[in-house]
Amino acid sequence: MRLRSIGAKLTLWYTGILSLTLLLLGILAYGLLTYSLSHDLDAALQGVAQAIATQAQRNGSNQLPPDLNEIFRRFFGFSPANPYFEMLDPFGRHQPGGLASPPEYPLTLEALMNALKGVATYETLKGADPYPVRVLVLPVVEAGQVTNLVQVGISLENLYHTRRRFVFIMAAVFPLGLLLAGGGGWLLARRALRPVDHMTRLAQRISGDHLTERLQETGTGDELDRLAMTLNEMLGRLDDSFRQVRQFSADASHELQTPLTILKGEIEVALRSRRSPEEYQQVMLSSLEEIERISRLVEGLLLLARADSGVLRLDLQPVDLPQLLAQVSAQMQRKAAGHGVSLSLGALEPVSTCGDREQLPRLFLNLIDNAIKYTPAGGRVTLSLRREGREILIDVADTGIGLSPEEQEQIFTRFYRAAAARSQSGGGAGLGLCIAQSIAAAHSGKIEVQSSPGQGSTFTVVLPVECSALGGG
Ligand code: ADP
Repeated sequence: MRLRSIGAKLTLWYTGILSLTLLLLGILAYGLLTYSLSHDLDAALQGVAQAIATQAQRNGSNQLPPDLNEIFRRFFGFSPANPYFEMLDPFGRHQPGGLASPPEYPLTLEALMNALKGVATYETLKGADPYPVRVLVLPVVEAGQVTNLVQVGISLENLYHTRRRFVFIMAAVFPLGLLLAGGGGWLLARRALRPVDHMTRLAQRISGDHLTERLQETGTGDELDRLAMTLNEMLGRLDDSFRQVRQFSADASHELQTPLTILKGEIEVALRSRRSPEEYQQVMLSSLEEIERISRLVEGLLLLARADSGVLRLDLQPVDLPQLLAQVSAQMQRKAAGHGVSLSLGALEPVSTCGDREQLPRLFLNLIDNAIKYTPAGGRVTLSLRREGREILIDVADTGIGLSPEEQEQIFTRFYRAAAARSQSGGGAGLGLCIAQSIAAAHSGKIEVQSSPGQGSTFTVVLPVECSALGGG
């Protein structure tokens, strides 16, 4: 039995507690047995003494009745081997020629004093016998006068024997009971914990490549079934994350491979024959565009990786938000004009927050870039800023193609692009919103979206008013 196993520990605990309980019960039973035997013995002694006293009164004599053995048998249920009896005068002296059983027991002062007051006394006395004797001194009272003292006693040998037998029986039964209970407990614990062994073996088989395996649920709803359910849920979440990581690697490689293939193709074609300086310049410009795309992608991936591992460092400084929005709007005017979209500033409440002066503009640039990209020519993009309680809300609203509710749930997933966006040229890799969201989260903020297809979308950046919420000054 390995002590590291729960079954062994449970059995040990169970056996320990049972031993203690049995021991306490044994002690209690021993005490009750002694009390009950002593009580019965005293009652029988009193019966005998009373019967002797009554007979003496009836006979008007101070002599003991001759049928003493019969009286003892009547009250004890058996004839004691060495019953002790004596009739004394009121001062405790032996009656001349009186019947008495040897050996004599002295009358203690206490018993004599009690007897003079008409009170009976029980005493346990040591005699020549190896066992003590229980003695009762009962005064015989006639017309308010103590006429005689009846002294009866019986050896406590039987009582001692019964108690010793009880201890022997307990000593024999106790280990046997413990052995049976311990063995039964061990079997029960093993039976109860067998599903855990089964789970352990199954869990050992589950690896990163076999996350689809699940533990068997019994459906009983007990602790082990709930454990299996919880582990299965955890496996499900692990499976999802592993899948996402694999998907992410595949998407990232794909996104990197596309511009690299284009780059390689363009350079190879250019090198196949002699070209004019203008043609070389054209190839180099196009290559630069692809390199810029790769570098943007790598930069985005790096930022997301830093945000994921919590090492995205922010240099928090007070930021005048209306001024910042005016700046990013001015920066994007050319692109908006190129798409035939009007980009304007709406209501801007004078609010400031704490933010990173490099990352915060990037967040808004990404959102405005999307709004321009996904708004057909003739549409409008409006930036507005307001404060609601302890929150600052910045809206980037467009009158563009919009998003269905299903698409809205997906747009913050890495590399996700809605169908309409994929069919459109000039789109990104599907990282822009994830980057924006990571920056907002690093500022203790979030991004919410409201959109309906064909009507347009509003992306709302929610930032806290207090700098302290960001750990800033
Ligand atoms: P992308 O580089 O493709 O723009 P994003 O992460 O910025 O990647 O956006 C993810 C997807 O969300 C986009 O491909 C597009 O389908 C959708 N989207 C983002 N912004 C808007 C918007 N303002 N209007 C409509 N669709 C949008």
